[in-house]
Amino acid sequence: MAISEFELIARYFADAGASREDVLLGVGDDCALLSVPDGRVLAVSIDTLVEGVHFLPDTDPEALGHKVLAVNLSDLAAMGAEPAWVTLALTLPDSDPQWLERFSRGFVSLATRHGVRLVGGDTTRGPRTITVQVHGFVEPDRAICRGGARPGDHIYVTGTLGDAALALRAIEQSSGEDIDPFLRQRLESPQPRLGVGMKAVGLASAGIDISDGLLSDLGHICTASGVGAAIELDHLPLSEPMRQYIEQSGDWSLVLGFGDDYELCLVVPAELVDEFENRTRDLEVALSRVGTIEIESGIRCLLDGGALLEPLPGGYEHFRHES
Ligand code: ADP
Ligand code: MG
Repeated sequence: MAISEFELIARYFADAGASREDVLLGVGDDCALLSVPDGRVLAVSIDTLVEGVHFLPDTDPEALGHKVLAVNLSDLAAMGAEPAWVTLALTLPDSDPQWLERFSRGFVSLATRHGVRLVGGDTTRGPRTITVQVHGFVEPDRAICRGGARPGDHIYVTGTLGDAALALRAIEQSSGEDIDPFLRQRLESPQPRLGVGMKAVGLASAGIDISDGLLSDLGHICTASGVGAAIELDHLPLSEPMRQYIEQSGDWSLVLGFGDDYELCLVVPAELVDEFENRTRDLEVALSRVGTIEIESGIRCLLDGGALLEPLPGGYEHFRHES
């Protein structure tokens, strides 16, 4: 049974996420009133997921609720920001309580886990589209930006790369049967690496989250910093299914050139590498040193033994074929 817009907000979104003293007024009025701590500034990021473009129509709503928040928190993580508040604009074809129940469960449970409060939003009818804006805190001169990488700095990535791309490929090739649950979870439930990002503040010279593939996203760091990079492929962190896939196919494109990893790529000056590794050791997130920033522009991918991998696959771009 469908429910009204106001019932929907009251039932699923009016009291959602962690309680926070800096929320002077949350959901229910024309605006939320929020208090930013002294000495810090707001880090703000917004992302939209459109059905059929960013997620498949039959995606589990609970996984979707998780993912739409996770991809935004991942942007805060990349800047080293501490998450605080989130707003949610929902466009839905109908107000199906079963869908909403599961969606809000995934969203709220991730928000609560990271101390984030849902403070407002908008609800409209239309093709299913979900926009989330997150707000976090960071000291103004200590945010990890894209433009600070220098030649000689070391390049790190968290977790493993390419699993989401491998999952999508498996789904496309399966005729309805289940895919490897590990791969499905990597595609549907990325974990924002907030702990690593916050520990990297004051150490990392540059950072980005890997949403479009390592080459594309590291490419943004290189462009913003006026540098290039060398990546050693045998240092890239691979899950077991990905290792098997590459052994069989020799195809590095899923690891290097496709999206949805939501791992972090952090650049750390050589003299700070030991402290960085010490600080992040107890976080239970794998960190791998995968390459080095170089003077020469462009990204070179070195195979075991030093040969260059060519041609290089690009990252995902929405409007690439339209110009
Ligand atoms: P207005 O018409 O003044 O924009 P709305 O009727 O859109 O207000 O929303 C009423 C209240 O509910 C506002 O505080 C708004 O932030 C909140 N809200 C609406 N939709 C959502 C949602 N999907 N998630 C969280 N809060 C929401
Ligand atoms: Mg409104």
